[in-house]
Amino acid sequence: MSFKELGLSEPLLKAISKKGYETPSPIQAKAIPSVLEGKDVLASAQTGTGKTAGFTLPLLHLLSENPKEKYRPIRALILTPTRELAAQVFANVKEYSEFLNLRSAVIFGGVNQKPQIATIRKGVDVLVATPGRLLDLQNQGALSLKRVEIFVLDEADRMLDMGFLRDIERVMKLMPDKRQNLLFSATFSKDIKKLAYSILNNPVQVETARQNTAVEVIDQKVYRVAKGKKTGLIIKLISEGNWNQVLVFTRTKHGANKLCKKMISAGISAAAIHGNKSQGARTKALAGFKNGSVRVLVATDIAARGIDIPLLPHVINFELPNISEDYVHRIGRTGRAGAEGQALSLVSADETSYLKGIEKLIGESIEVEIVEGFEPDPNASTAPIKPGQNRNQNKGRRTNNRNSNSKGSGNNRNSNRNKSRNRNRNNDSTRN
Ligand code: AMP
Repeated sequence: MSFKELGLSEPLLKAISKKGYETPSPIQAKAIPSVLEGKDVLASAQTGTGKTAGFTLPLLHLLSENPKEKYRPIRALILTPTRELAAQVFANVKEYSEFLNLRSAVIFGGVNQKPQIATIRKGVDVLVATPGRLLDLQNQGALSLKRVEIFVLDEADRMLDMGFLRDIERVMKLMPDKRQNLLFSATFSKDIKKLAYSILNNPVQVETARQNTAVEVIDQKVYRVAKGKKTGLIIKLISEGNWNQVLVFTRTKHGANKLCKKMISAGISAAAIHGNKSQGARTKALAGFKNGSVRVLVATDIAARGIDIPLLPHVINFELPNISEDYVHRIGRTGRAGAEGQALSLVSADETSYLKGIEKLIGESIEVEIVEGFEPDPNASTAPIKPGQNRNQNKGRRTNNRNSNSKGSGNNRNSNRNKSRNRNRNNDSTRN
């Protein structure tokens, strides 16, 4: 199967070959023909599968077939949960539309809105947006969604995790009823299915890998270790392994900052990326990580979504996520495009139930190793860390978001996110 056989136009084929893609990925081979036929699509796909091109290429094909008007209304809306993912999708849209007469723009919060408004005023065919900023600008009358023909909801599961359901519902009301809808999600909870059926009309279902399975090319390993020895162990692994591009996950923003400082003190160049960092700081950290000047990127789950780093060799879970599905998302950052990757998890006694939940979800048990000098503490309690509690690090302090006074929609969204996460956590603990 080639891209040409999928029915994409010459200008798109030219852009694809410029990107160096030779054959469509499975999700692309399945999704592109259905989108080109104008059908609604419900696709199960994780980051790293090539899903962005799976919806962007046919979307651009369809838009370029229709005659353009002098005043360019927004004809395609791509909604993403995070700024990073929005920026990444936009970069792809730009690249794929290089040889087409189509204009695109991206809008997200945390940066000045004026340049975004100015770009939209000039007329754009494709708008990539995060929900908050989109609704802000719509409320100000800076944009209209009344002419949207194609609506893409990317990473729908993450949207719900982040408490964006109400925002999505608001956005839906601003678009015409008659339109094509594409929904992408890595996981399919009951809530996602409900959302999907409220948006999609008679959708074609596209599935790539088995649902919720860890990618087989990823070599997974668990290091059982005492909580207080995790920092020493991670520094040893990175230094002795001479690893130069490592993505490390922590559960909290505070934990990410703290670990980052320790890495730097140990002579390992590191940067942290999380929701409390400014857009500029995140972009800088990511750029440093991509160009090799930063060896270790320490991230929280939310911040890591949408980061596009091809062929990432090492992912380390400094702490396991308390939502099992997040483990699959995290390790999906490695072993991309068929390359082998390694996903390591440092697991202390109080994370035992999280590990069990993860192994149940992925349907396999993960190989365990113990490193001399970094053994687990035989007397430590296996009781899981309670939501909002960060035993070692915050000593009595709750996470920043939950206690902060609400200042505008951003914080409310965070507290919704926490509510939704707590709900998930409770579900998890009943399941495990
Ligand atoms: P995505 O899942 O959309 O984040 O894409 C993951 C990575 O795969 C990105 O770096 C894409 O540029 C790359 N990619 C997408 N489609 C293909 C393809 N057909 N062949 C090779 N690489 C691809």
